[in-house]
Amino acid sequence: MASNAAFRPALVIVDVQEDFCPPSGSLAVAGGRDIIPTINLLLSLPFAIKVATKDFHPRDHISFASNHPPPNNIPFESMITISNPYNASETQSTRLWPDHCVQGTPGAEILPELDIGKVQHIVEKGQDRRVEMYSAFTDPFESPSVATSDLLKKLKDANISHVYIAGLAMDYCVKFTALDSAKAGFRTYVITEGTRAIDPGPDGWGATQKDLKLQGVPLVSIDGEEMKLVRHGSQSTP
Ligand SMILES: [Zn+2]
Repeated sequence: MASNAAFRPALVIVDVQEDFCPPSGSLAVAGGRDIIPTINLLLSLPFAIKVATKDFHPRDHISFASNHPPPNNIPFESMITISNPYNASETQSTRLWPDHCVQGTPGAEILPELDIGKVQHIVEKGQDRRVEMYSAFTDPFESPSVATSDLLKKLKDANISHVYIAGLAMDYCVKFTALDSAKAGFRTYVITEGTRAIDPGPDGWGATQKDLKLQGVPLVSIDGEEMKLVRHGSQSTP
């Protein structure tokens, strides 16, 4: 773990977009808009770098149920197997969703009440129609990777030590972004008040919290000890 001198925290705000929020989102997460005060408070803190991510799909994206033939094309229910386009032996079973966050549509917009002027970088993800991409770092395939964003480079260039994550949805894109952040060597936290799950029950929020903890990623409160260093100890410029 980094010493205080090397404490360089980043804030990563995941997919706080209209399609993931009531009242009109096609894939609205209950209470999705309620996290905005927490996120704007986080944005007011002296993180070394503040990044927002956007799910940003083409219309023919593989994760949309509407792009698959019946009967296995029911949003939220149907599962499909995706093969790595460069290596057919590597496969992933994944859920199908309603169309969401299509490039150029209002649903892909970041919520206007989010204080976006305090964000230095916006990272777009999910543009490759052939693969699902929950993590803002990369798609789930490894041999080889198919779609990788510049998020890791941004964090490394800023000499980041710790990554604090908030946004939507806790049990999908927040989870996989947090896991990849930890895998990349950053001490990683998810802010409890700054996220909501598609499934708030034990199979969603509960199981995700357990998975994250097993991989060394605790959920922490914005009022907790882990946030105090950010409030008092960080350098504010990269
Ligand atoms: Zn998506």
